[in-house]
Amino acid sequence: MNTLKRILVTGGAGLIGSHLCGQLLDKGHDVICMDNFFTSQKRDIAKLLDYHNFELIRHDITQPARLEVDEIYNLACPASPVHYQFNPVQTLQTSIAGAMNMLGIAKRTRAKILQASTSEVYGDPDISPQPESYRGRVNPIGPRACYDEGKRCAETLFFDYHRMHGVDIRVVRIFNTYGPGQHPYDGRVVSNFILQALNNEDITIYGDGSQTRSFCYVDDLVEAMIRMMNNTENFTGPVNLGNPDEFTIKQLAEIIIELTGSSSKLVYGPLPADDPTQRRPDISLAKEKLQWQPATNLREGLTKTIEYFKGLNLDHYSRPTLNQVQ
Ligand code: NAD
Ligand code: UDP
Repeated sequence: MNTLKRILVTGGAGLIGSHLCGQLLDKGHDVICMDNFFTSQKRDIAKLLDYHNFELIRHDITQPARLEVDEIYNLACPASPVHYQFNPVQTLQTSIAGAMNMLGIAKRTRAKILQASTSEVYGDPDISPQPESYRGRVNPIGPRACYDEGKRCAETLFFDYHRMHGVDIRVVRIFNTYGPGQHPYDGRVVSNFILQALNNEDITIYGDGSQTRSFCYVDDLVEAMIRMMNNTENFTGPVNLGNPDEFTIKQLAEIIIELTGSSSKLVYGPLPADDPTQRRPDISLAKEKLQWQPATNLREGLTKTIEYFKGLNLDHYSRPTLNQVQ
């Protein structure tokens, strides 16, 4: 039986999407990457252009598209707070209108569709670790709401298309993920700290650095996403995907200084509004249903990511928005 599939990856030029496309191409699938290059550049997927089974479409998923595919991974959405807050209405459109457009393709072609949801659906959680049953503590009118509520609404749309139209859905809630391929002006904490450390500049900690995050290496995450898409139990999720090892932001800064041998100093600035104080996934469900757990610890993952950033020529990158890193 031919098991090769036609797979659409929206947001396929971004950090997670580019690694996902790479792994799917290596398995021999026909991969269509759809991206509007808001937070990525063609340079980020230059290697993928050499594959005969790779196709690139510049398209904004808020606009309808007509394609015939077997599977859809819906990743298109800016993920960094500085960029998703740049045009909050477009961020909501991407999560909501974009999800409806992709679910429409899935309904018409009977494709299986996976949604890249997020730990942000839990908001600023008052329990730790966060299991899938936790319903969250999101401020619906704050500056992060365009992302958090957009992603929550996308989950609602996925489950309503599933119940109403029988669409075969998969929903994964991704916790902070990092790795090579991250845009240098992405604005998220790992890329900011690494670039600052490599340049011996001050490391900008927002708040007192006691807030926690749990960082997952991108290859581990992509493996889990593919397992989720391929699970044969019709397990829809939502399922948490992330690394349960929890670190304070100050600890992260100290580890990056140590691994880069940097002379950077820590400086403290204001904490952005609604910045979650803690995030740590309960991954029992992923272990049980997908037989998955992350294999890469933070130091190993950071070491590979630092090597990547060392080799970057920043002249080749432009800033996605005017929302600058502090
Ligand atoms: P990223 O910003 O690197 O990639 C997102 C990609 O989507 C970019 O290539 C961007 O150009 C594209 N895009 C944005 N809006 C689009 C639109 N309207 N139409 C077409 N393309 C569009 O982010 P990432 O870290 O790779 O995240 C990928 C997905 O995973 C996102 O949906 C994000 O919300 C989700 N996620 C990521 C993390 C993380 O820590 N990396 C955590 C939780 C959820
Ligand atoms: N952060 C920081 N300095 C930076 C960038 C981020 O201290 O230069 C903090 C941010 O306030 C948050 C954490 O690091 O507490 C993770 O931020 P990021 O933007 O990577 O993602 P988030 O998990 O907030 O969506």
